[in-house]
Amino acid sequence: MSHPTYHNFIAGEWVPAAGGKTLLNLNPADHSDVIGAFPASGAADVDSAVAAAKKAFATWRLVPAPKRAEILLRTGALLQERKEKYAREMTREMGKVLAETRGDVQEAIDEAFYVAGEGRRLYGVTTPSELQNKFAMSVRMPVGVVGLITPWNFPMAIPSWKLFPALVAGNTCVIKPAEDTPLSTYNLVETLMDSGLPPGVVNIVSGDGPGAGAPLVEHAQVRAISFTGSSEVGSLIAQRAAATFKQVSLEMGGKNAMIVLDDANLDLALDGALWGAFGTTGQRCTATSRILLQRGIAAEFTERFVARARKLRVGNGLDENVEVGPQINRQQIETSTRYVEIAQREGAKLVCGGRALTDEPYAKGTFFAPTVFAGITPQMRIAREEVFGPVVSLLAFDTFEEAIAIANSIDYGLSTALYTRDVNRAFTAMRDLEAGITYINAPTIGAEVHLPFGGVKQTGNGHREGLGALEFFTTWKAVYVDYSDKLQRAQIDNAE
Ligand code: ADP
Repeated sequence: MSHPTYHNFIAGEWVPAAGGKTLLNLNPADHSDVIGAFPASGAADVDSAVAAAKKAFATWRLVPAPKRAEILLRTGALLQERKEKYAREMTREMGKVLAETRGDVQEAIDEAFYVAGEGRRLYGVTTPSELQNKFAMSVRMPVGVVGLITPWNFPMAIPSWKLFPALVAGNTCVIKPAEDTPLSTYNLVETLMDSGLPPGVVNIVSGDGPGAGAPLVEHAQVRAISFTGSSEVGSLIAQRAAATFKQVSLEMGGKNAMIVLDDANLDLALDGALWGAFGTTGQRCTATSRILLQRGIAAEFTERFVARARKLRVGNGLDENVEVGPQINRQQIETSTRYVEIAQREGAKLVCGGRALTDEPYAKGTFFAPTVFAGITPQMRIAREEVFGPVVSLLAFDTFEEAIAIANSIDYGLSTALYTRDVNRAFTAMRDLEAGITYINAPTIGAEVHLPFGGVKQTGNGHREGLGALEFFTTWKAVYVDYSDKLQRAQIDNAE
């Protein structure tokens, strides 16, 4: 079957990878459906893209920020028009159901409108000088050429979280999309170009991590790297980037706990748990992967949760009746399978699912049954390590304090949720849960673009997307204007 061939996007031109190699982008619901061949780029392609970005920086940084923002405003409006088309293309390349891919495009729209407003803010501060007739202020400057490395689970939203703030601040970008879902990045960049973005300001280099990502991280002209992906790769990137003193923003894994107290609205908690655990087929860094149940409701919750998990309709995300799409690729199926084995060896009780779905109508894709483990103890690997699939663990506890301790007992700290009607406990949890995000009476997923997004401990390295992205994509410059017409020495001439 014939399929289109895509190229890299460098200096406003579509160019094949220098090595001529390509990677196939497959529909995870049906691997015989090839979305396209995308370049398998290498260091030479990264060099060209960085050179283009460097050249474009000379003029882009001088475009007034409100003008840069107008391009983002138009991008948001155009994405609204294209939402359905891009959502369908995203479901085809990534697998998640249409309602969710529409949400993914919507997130890029929200981000465009939010960041467009920043074009008229980008505030600095003025402050009194310690000397007479001297003015002091601090202004935000762009960083320069930035490298963006993105994962496959939010193929348009995550690129937009990085591209838009980088652009409004005056940076130029080289983006390396995930090898499994490059098309959505192409769609996003196409929309930016249609909105009037000058050539060279955003460049796309497609390819795999070691081939195209690593040279971007190592490139001497790239001043910052913003990465979302696994903790293993994030650690590698931080180490490599240190050699050229790049700033690095890392957004990585989670093992997100939902705590359900005895006094919770159980129907609400069940709806939230199901959505948090199996939305995006569990392939979100904020997915609910541990559900901590207080002893009084544990049995009833488990029974009702499992009954509903069993009934979830798994299938091709383009079918509006489907609730859970495929996993992205064979490797993720292997990971889910491996963790099911690990959990069973550890003595966890498999109460639902637990296997890849290989019979018709699933045979051509990479599907995994929604899987629930009960009888989990906090020490088990299945309770501590990220699976990134439709696999959730149920743990029972006695006291609220014990639940907080279990929730905090892992290496990650991205998202958490508490279901209760007790306002005192709600506020205690907001303070004590070690995570970048805490939800009360809502599941662990559902971040909004204008709040800080990121985590503590091994989830991140302290940066935030959303509210916080401009801190990463700008650098402070202190400016002093002396209008005294004489030499005034700081710390010396005002000593008396
Ligand atoms: P995931 O498990 O979500 O696929 P990865 O961390 O493997 O997460 O990938 C996230 C992104 O990082 C992808 O775009 C991938 O190609 C890229 N990547 C993987 N390995 C490297 C590497 N060694 N250097 C730079 N980027 C990499």
